[in-house]
Amino acid sequence: QNPVPLSALSADQLAAFLTEQRAAYDALKARDLKLDLTRGKPASSQLDLSDALLTLPTSTTDAAGVDVRNYGGLEGIREIREMFADLLWVEPEQVVAGGNSSLVMMREVLVDLWLKGGVDSERPWGQEEKVTFICPVPGYDRHFTLLEWFGIDMITVPMNDDGPDAEAVARLVASDPSIKGIWIVPTYANPSGSIVSQEIAARLASMPTAAPDFKIFWDNAYAFHHLTEDEAKSADILSLAAAAGHPHRPIMFASTSKITYAGAGVAFLAGSVETVKWYTGHLGKGAIGPDKLNQLRHAQFFGSAQGVRDHMVKHREIIAPKFAEVERVLSERLGGLEVATWTKPTGGYFVSLDVLDGTASRVVQLAKEAGIALTPAGSSFPKGDDPRDRNIRLAPTFPAPAAVTEAMDAVATCVLLAAAEHLSA
Ligand code: PMP
Repeated sequence: QNPVPLSALSADQLAAFLTEQRAAYDALKARDLKLDLTRGKPASSQLDLSDALLTLPTSTTDAAGVDVRNYGGLEGIREIREMFADLLWVEPEQVVAGGNSSLVMMREVLVDLWLKGGVDSERPWGQEEKVTFICPVPGYDRHFTLLEWFGIDMITVPMNDDGPDAEAVARLVASDPSIKGIWIVPTYANPSGSIVSQEIAARLASMPTAAPDFKIFWDNAYAFHHLTEDEAKSADILSLAAAAGHPHRPIMFASTSKITYAGAGVAFLAGSVETVKWYTGHLGKGAIGPDKLNQLRHAQFFGSAQGVRDHMVKHREIIAPKFAEVERVLSERLGGLEVATWTKPTGGYFVSLDVLDGTASRVVQLAKEAGIALTPAGSSFPKGDDPRDRNIRLAPTFPAPAAVTEAMDAVATCVLLAAAEHLSA
């Protein structure tokens, strides 16, 4: 028989349901679980896939004959730039290969914009009266905390299945010169799994902006992280922007953090050739060169762009079953009750769970008291403020499959109890 939506229950039925859920929750607590679904980290079995890195490189010169043990080469070694240019649909001279973190590159770009202004700025951003960013929500918490650290104002727009609400974005940027940028995770977004469509990308690349130096921070952290054989292709934002007469608008970021080692991969920045020069020019004031040995190690490990794609299939085989388990448990436990909706991502690292308005913090609290750590409610919103208190980000990659099942079952129990409490109140 089909489950009845909770909101359709009579007062007596709801009271009985609440009693049931309280008992289920007490039983859950008594199990003394210790589970963690907070961060999108690769499981150790995923890290193991790249352990051949530990015996590489087998030589110490790159394709250009440069000794990678020495100083120099701020933009990174030629072969890794070529490989990722191919993967990211850009030209090698538009790519910088850096250290182990793309988030660090994002911070560096913001610092440079703040202190010096961009290639198309009238003055450093720090000398503007006010700087504002558009933040599609739900989004990546670290993007928002980084802006908050600068004192940059944040305006939210909805993140839809096909990308940010482009109508809303275009309206905002057209009239407000303080709006200098937008964050976008174009492929398998954190946490919604959304994929920015070609149409939305073209609109963002071409829309008129009141600020002459408006930037799209195109954070393609999950570009190759497919969960199905239907591999989404990211829109070619650099070409779209160049064709629309705004070549310096997008700055793209990516890394191998969830391809090889999260803590010892290679990060990439891509943009117009002028943007690359601008970035390395500022970088050079505090750096003599990146870890080229790690870059060469990665180039040899992958062998080619196809080698990266092949490697991602091995990741998929490990993590896709965990995502399938999230889907199975949530639909078995919550389906038809109309107390939650959740995403069914085809890539990336997250499932975005929306519970009844006003109950997300309660769900996270209940889970915590039962030994299941979830990201704080609201963390996918600027300043942690989810105005509807309904969104919870689930990260199923790190725990073992059995732990994912257990954790999702526990989360479902907490969602049901919080919903029953809320509707009974
Ligand atoms: N961007 C997004 C959208 C992410 O989800 C993450 C990792 N959680 C990062 C960037 C961090 O990337 P990196 O390891 O290259 O600093």
